[in-house]
Amino acid sequence: MTEQQRLEAIERMALLYTPAEECFDRVTRLAARLFSAPIATFTVVGERNVWFKSRFGTELSEVTRDDGFSSVVIRSAGPLVVQDALADPRFARCGLVVNAPYARFYAGIAIRSPEGARVGALGVIDNQPRTIADQELTFLRDLASIVEDELHRRQLAQVHGDMIRELGEARRRSMVDPLTSVWNRAGLDTILTRELDAAGMRGSELSVAMVDLDHFKGVNDRFGHAVGDTVLCEVARRLRVAARPVDSVARYGGEEFVVVLPGCGARDVQRVAQRLRGRIADAPVVVGQSLQLDVTASIGIATAEPGEPASVLLTRADVALYDAKRNGRDQVVIAQPSMRAPGPR
Ligand code: GH3
Ligand code: MG
Ligand code: MG
Repeated sequence: MTEQQRLEAIERMALLYTPAEECFDRVTRLAARLFSAPIATFTVVGERNVWFKSRFGTELSEVTRDDGFSSVVIRSAGPLVVQDALADPRFARCGLVVNAPYARFYAGIAIRSPEGARVGALGVIDNQPRTIADQELTFLRDLASIVEDELHRRQLAQVHGDMIRELGEARRRSMVDPLTSVWNRAGLDTILTRELDAAGMRGSELSVAMVDLDHFKGVNDRFGHAVGDTVLCEVARRLRVAARPVDSVARYGGEEFVVVLPGCGARDVQRVAQRLRGRIADAPVVVGQSLQLDVTASIGIATAEPGEPASVLLTRADVALYDAKRNGRDQVVIAQPSMRAPGPR
């Protein structure tokens, strides 16, 4: 990720030179309390300056990149802990240390945008030197994840919302599966193509999960088609619950569903797919008064490669799904990267 892309990510999320927002203030408030520190900040590192997007315990709204800790934090994935800034040649003369608030102790961690750009830092500051336990750094990571989730939500929700509004009511209606109330195949094709374009423009990742119910024919054979329909509806509902607001759930075919997962990359797919699988399998599907059915699904999941068309991505997920079936069902298989033909592009 280049510095230019990093700055663009900040711009898209309108983080720089914008007012404070309660969702971030909540986190800095909690951070200060949790660490018994007088100051906590969520800073955004711009081209030249660091903007205090959220600040607790300080009036500062902006410092130069050289005057704070955040520009160092964003250079590494792990946390930065400075026990005594005056004893640390990197920071002994920086503005936050020699002027108010006279920082001595700092612990901070990078905040990443959905596409992985380190946009800024969540940090706690004390004007006394001190140490921090590893256990406490876990809490700092948790709080940083809350900020990142919020960034995720707002950025993707916007693109996703625009996309769905743009489709128009009439087209949308023809794209919803009447049985399960999720997108149908046509809806999936439209949404996936648009989400892939959007991900390409943002430089962010996208995955698709292909979900196929196990031995579903047996449900129809034993209990009848109407019971099968009830199970399909319940599975669609469970997928919607497991999905985030920005994800799209679609019925791909008879008892096969696809979940489009914008912002979800190779790092996340295993966890996400297991969540989908667990949602389906963890509790029996209740039909009427007396019938409880254990339902499981096999899942193939694939992460898009740059420029990959929707059809190729879906085929890779389908191949992975086939492996999950062959390996015994009720499991997740992650697709191999596609084999790309070498040659000029
Ligand atoms: P596997 O674990 O290999 O996926 O086995 P399976 O039985 O789920 O797979 P198969 O593809 O053999 O059967 C899919 C079944 O799904 C066949 C069809 O009767 C049923 N089905 C497809 N669409 C519907 C539907 O709209 N309603 C109902 N009730 N059943 C459907
Ligand atoms: Mg099937
Ligand atoms: Mg099946």
